[in-house]
Amino acid sequence: MEGQFSGTCHCGRVAFTINGKVLNVVNCHCSICRRANGGAFSSFVVVPEEAFEVVKGQDLLTRYAMSDKGEKHFCRVCGAPVFNRNKLYPKVTVVPLGCLDGPEQFIPKVNIFCERMLPWVAFAKEITCYEKGLAK
Ligand SMILES: [Zn+2]
Ligand SMILES: [Zn+2]
Repeated sequence: MEGQFSGTCHCGRVAFTINGKVLNVVNCHCSICRRANGGAFSSFVVVPEEAFEVVKGQDLLTRYAMSDKGEKHFCRVCGAPVFNRNKLYPKVTVVPLGCLDGPEQFIPKVNIFCERMLPWVAFAKEITCYEKGLAK
């Protein structure tokens, strides 16, 4: 998958573009992502470092070291994650799938850290599903 993609944080003050090749789309089930993002697992788009560019709101980005290798960059106004970098993978930028415009076009190819996967994730769609939120 190759092309031009864009995205923003929740409040829209930070915006970025991706120009190039999407190397991978990953669901990460590790406990670091779970704590850092608050979800049962995190979905990420992996792109070459040079393909990723913050085009707006650079001054609003705040860094947080999630581990001795992984660093999260998030919008300090709304708290949304914008991108991650990891010393173990120095040539790539990891972008949360949910921050991208048209997230449905990015289809995960692999699950990683499955040893930490919460057991209900595999059957999440089998429980009662509502098209919108819970009725009051
Ligand atoms: Zn924001
Ligand atoms: Zn993770």
